[in-house]
Amino acid sequence: MSHHQILIIGGGNAGISTAAQLLRKNRSLDIAIVDPADKHYYQPAWTLVGGGTFDINKTVRNEASVMPKGVTWIKQKAVSFSPEQNSVELDNGPVSYDYLIVCPGIQLNWSAVKGLPETLGKNNVCSNYSFETAPYTFECIKNFKGGTALFHNPSTPIKCGGAPHKIMYLAADYFRKHGILAKTDIQYWSGIGKLFAVPEYEKTLLQVVKRGNIKLNFMYNLTEIDGPNKTAKFVGIGDGNKDEVKEVKFDMIHVTPPQSAPDFIKNSPLANAGGWVDVDKGTLQHPKYANVFSLGDASGLPISKTGAAIRKQAPVLVANLLDVMSGRQPSQTYMGYTSCPLVTGYGKLVLAEFDYNNKPMETFPFDQSKERWSMYQLKKQVLPRMYWGAILKGTA
Ligand SMILES: Cc1cc2nc3c(=O)[nH]c(=O)nc-3n(C[C@H](O)[C@H](O)[C@H](O)COP(=O)(O)OP(=O)(O)OC[C@H]3O[C@@H](n4cnc5c(N)ncnc54)[C@H](O)[C@@H]3O)c2cc1C
Repeated sequence: MSHHQILIIGGGNAGISTAAQLLRKNRSLDIAIVDPADKHYYQPAWTLVGGGTFDINKTVRNEASVMPKGVTWIKQKAVSFSPEQNSVELDNGPVSYDYLIVCPGIQLNWSAVKGLPETLGKNNVCSNYSFETAPYTFECIKNFKGGTALFHNPSTPIKCGGAPHKIMYLAADYFRKHGILAKTDIQYWSGIGKLFAVPEYEKTLLQVVKRGNIKLNFMYNLTEIDGPNKTAKFVGIGDGNKDEVKEVKFDMIHVTPPQSAPDFIKNSPLANAGGWVDVDKGTLQHPKYANVFSLGDASGLPISKTGAAIRKQAPVLVANLLDVMSGRQPSQTYMGYTSCPLVTGYGKLVLAEFDYNNKPMETFPFDQSKERWSMYQLKKQVLPRMYWGAILKGTA
């Protein structure tokens, strides 16, 4: 069985940036990353890809090219954990560790919506939630000639809570610019009870909704899609609409798949009651296994799951892990910072930044609840470069 001082499960945004930061603190650490993927994705730009304003090929690089120098890449899939034995079972056998960081991301459950896997990517059924399907979203928007456009948000936790409605605002703006908004019925169907959790930002979004004449439907789950017959079935899940069935004809639909913790995490001794990796929300340390830490989408942190959150989690995790390795108590606290660059149109963006209590935690000295061209440029031009050039290198 091979052994590593620090074993990281998942070489996505969280795994690579954490490894890079650890090596910047101490070059001689023995770190291995387990990840079977050939490719590494910059997922935040998929919203702009779906809006036809970002090149999909700029959102992908070979995993080998982002692996920090000095890290051992174990190109295998993790399947189960034995934290009492400090060991993880991989597809090809076990590997042991002194310290473990668990960050394999979130699981997309496409087949939880009946008919979705068969029709996704055709019949005007699109989704920005994968590299393969994001470009088709723009095909649907571009070819739309008026009629009913549905945008869906599931009731489960998801990565980037804003993504299901950001693409709706871009579509509305595109339809307006092409003179077809007046003959378009845009409907938002959501499994949760409001548009956005932070009132300061939600108020601006509600104006954007009004501008696009968008109809909001809350507390409905999408249960079934019939692509060839262009029909979506929604079922009520709220107190006032429980089990109510609505069958809605569409001319295009953007679907956000239901999501969950990965199955191998759910079924492991590391999971909390919801299936996510159990961690202290301040220190990012596992409450039962002191040599286990977690961050990113797979962690049980009670926040909106974003890359921006990882940017603030990684330095805390790194400092606390080095504390524990030196026999000290964790010294750093993560305050729950997360951010969602809410694209509200072409050239318009509300930069939402907030903490565990949904209280704004803003970076800039102006009112960030306003739509701004400068913040759109930050998302389109600055953040992608910063991701590949600094965040993955552990310098930002
Ligand atoms: C459409 C869309 C828009 C978004 N917009 C934004 C935005 O505007 N701003 C923002 O900050 N964030 C945004 N995000 C969210 C952001 O991309 C994620 O929060 C971030 O990528 C999570 O990082 P992670 O490392 O936890 O998971 P990921 O980056 O998804 O990486 C997980 C890694 O784990 C690996 N893995 C999975 N299973 C196993 C296993 N069994 N064994 C080993 N390895 C495994 C995978 O191969 C993958 O490499 C968006 C996401 C999407 C899809």
